[in-house]
Amino acid sequence: MKTYQKIIVVLLVVFSLNIQAQTTFIDLNKNGEKEIYEDHNASLNDRVNDLLPRISLEDKVNLVVGTGMNVPGISTAEAEEKVKGAAGNTYSLKDLGIPAIVLADGPAGLRIEPIRDSLSSKKFYCTAFPIATLLASTWDTQLVESIGVAMGQEVKEYGADVLLAPAMNIHRNPLAGRNFEYFSEDPYLSGFMSASIVKGIESNGVGTSVKHFVANNQETNRMQVNTIVSERALREIYLRGFEMVVKNTQPWTIMSSYNKVNGIYASENKELLTTILRDEWGFKGLVMTDWFAGSDAVAQMKAGNDLLMPGVPAQKTAILNAVKNGTLDESILDENVKRILNIVLQSQAIKAYKYSDLPNLEAHAKIARQAASEGAILLKNENTLPLNKEVKKIAAFGNGSYNFIAGGTGSGDVNEAYTVSLVEGLANANYIVDQDLKNIYEKYISIEEAKLPKKKFFFELLPPINEMTLSKAEVIEKATETDIAFITIGRNSGEFQDRKLEGDFYLTAAEKEMIKVVSEVYHSQNKKVVMLLNIGNVIETASWRNQVDAVVLAWQGGQEAGNALVDVILGNVNPSGKLPTTFPIDYTDIESGKNFPGKELPNTEEVKMGAMSMGKPSEVIYEEGIYVGYRYFNTFNVKTAYPFGFGLSYTNFSYENISINTGAENNAANVSITITNTGKVSGKEVVQLYVDAPKSILDKPTMELKAFAKTKLLAPGESETLQFVLTNKDLASFNTKRNSWIVDAGTYTVKIGSSSETINASSTFMLSNEIMVEKVHKSLTPQVEIKELTSKKL
Ligand code: BGC
Repeated sequence: MKTYQKIIVVLLVVFSLNIQAQTTFIDLNKNGEKEIYEDHNASLNDRVNDLLPRISLEDKVNLVVGTGMNVPGISTAEAEEKVKGAAGNTYSLKDLGIPAIVLADGPAGLRIEPIRDSLSSKKFYCTAFPIATLLASTWDTQLVESIGVAMGQEVKEYGADVLLAPAMNIHRNPLAGRNFEYFSEDPYLSGFMSASIVKGIESNGVGTSVKHFVANNQETNRMQVNTIVSERALREIYLRGFEMVVKNTQPWTIMSSYNKVNGIYASENKELLTTILRDEWGFKGLVMTDWFAGSDAVAQMKAGNDLLMPGVPAQKTAILNAVKNGTLDESILDENVKRILNIVLQSQAIKAYKYSDLPNLEAHAKIARQAASEGAILLKNENTLPLNKEVKKIAAFGNGSYNFIAGGTGSGDVNEAYTVSLVEGLANANYIVDQDLKNIYEKYISIEEAKLPKKKFFFELLPPINEMTLSKAEVIEKATETDIAFITIGRNSGEFQDRKLEGDFYLTAAEKEMIKVVSEVYHSQNKKVVMLLNIGNVIETASWRNQVDAVVLAWQGGQEAGNALVDVILGNVNPSGKLPTTFPIDYTDIESGKNFPGKELPNTEEVKMGAMSMGKPSEVIYEEGIYVGYRYFNTFNVKTAYPFGFGLSYTNFSYENISINTGAENNAANVSITITNTGKVSGKEVVQLYVDAPKSILDKPTMELKAFAKTKLLAPGESETLQFVLTNKDLASFNTKRNSWIVDAGTYTVKIGSSSETINASSTFMLSNEIMVEKVHKSLTPQVEIKELTSKKL
């Protein structure tokens, strides 16, 4: 062999070894013999312990800091991304065969870049599932779990390892820009929904990151805001759902939030991440930061925040120096590293799973459609829906009818292949939609869209297009030619900014005018008007709802929204969705509105990272305490537009034979009730169990949701008996003075109903002695006095 031939052979060998090293990490080790850490049959603990001593200090530091993100002026990614458009990656230890794992957003589906190669026609689309608020509106834990199974399959088949979802912050205030990503104003409903989706996703052998832990309930100054909140409101409202998920599902990871909690950044808060999360709740997984969160990498390590995302070089320097100068004990770093390895060793990446890039998008579209119709809520219906056979021609008003919003913006967005609008859904069901009106709207929308400014940054939410003004004569013409009018009102929101009151929470003048003109004209011809709300978040409804005949809250139903909505409108699906959040009459009725989004601190400056603003130091005081959502409206007798838990059906249900058994071991009470479909069509009922607890010692809301269930599809006349279990913890309140969850002695009333304002059956039981359920650590104590709302006459 000539020298140049030898060189080519050597190069080929090196090249092929290198390729192998990148793709099948673990098989490359010495003499074909597996080390303990490589042995998939050994226990995770043994594998991690075997691996740790092989890792240099520098590489330990590399592991706890993500490999960065390309943000102009701020940071450059260290490694090329494995899955284009994923939010981040961990560091790989090539010599040891430890791969990087891929973390990608959530929560409405997998957010990755659909175009990997501009020259190829292959697209990597994902399913846009309905937003979390809609999923919660189904009150169907099994359905939500199967959504999780589908999402997780996309994560796995596109080569990602952890979905940055579910997001489960509380709907404290309707103006919070990311409420659509979150489930509910109620911690129980949020906790059950999150646990279901985590189970579903993780059943694929991929992970979740339950976020944003904790009290991150606004976007305004989200990275600097200090959330000042009582220990009781934290425990009962803001932490409770997370506690349920951790205890029930032991998720792979948790994402700490941007904000401070009572003075300390969540990601640097040891009481939050170690005392509560790990010591009290038994969390075994890893904690990662939200992207670029916090300010002190060493404090984050000490707090138990194991992974810093997306990672910047300064964090590595800070941690390395701290270990070298003794301000960070290497054993703490070792714990952080172990928790990361523990996840990496379970990942699909270490198994070198050969992902297909071909998830079952067709099957997932079907389940997305099912969920979108099950989570649609019928708010009003005066002999209008389902459409009767005489209705043949439909006029669709409102830009939103033609431009459906599948889900909100920002990291919670999904790059889906298509979104079915209302008119497309109607056309798919063979309904005739007025073409002339359609053309007018589509032309108007494309002209107005062209006038919109260019996005300054990827996630920027552009202002909505104004509603088109139609003359009364035009509407009269349409009313004469069609049988019914649909009006769609659309709203979008997302990360980085909260919503505005004018033109967002409240309808715009043009929208109000459209509702008025269309309703007057159609009613004058004895024809009906149906309002469709394609929104991600609560809006004002009381001022206009009397003008229309029916209102369907479609939320943002994902890519199949239009088809799902038509399923409900036609009665192919009998609506069974119920509100997971209260619709107030007016914004001024919302107690948290007095303290939203808080105040900027005087004499402080905007915090910047490169050219990017990280917000201004500010604080928000949760003076409403535990009185969030219906807990407030019920207890203080404030009227709502539509109460928590509310939603109509095309049939009716009776609630009979409530029975309570307090004799069972371990549980405080077992409750059962029989639900019968008393109407003429099949339907499902969401049955809500509230508890009205004795208020002798602590101030307590009138009643709180403690359990719920959805019946199967009941045929007319058919019954189902539902069983509920109430544990002591369910009945307990958090007594701050005693740092304990306590069930007070006294009379408990179990109230079962179809909304928080419609109780159909109730019964009581007595507890003669108080029950001390759990003593916890004194943690997260506010440093200032909070003038908390109380219903007790002091
Ligand atoms: C969001 C997170 C998201 C992360 C990664 C952050 O801005 O708050 O929810 O997971 O970005 O995209």
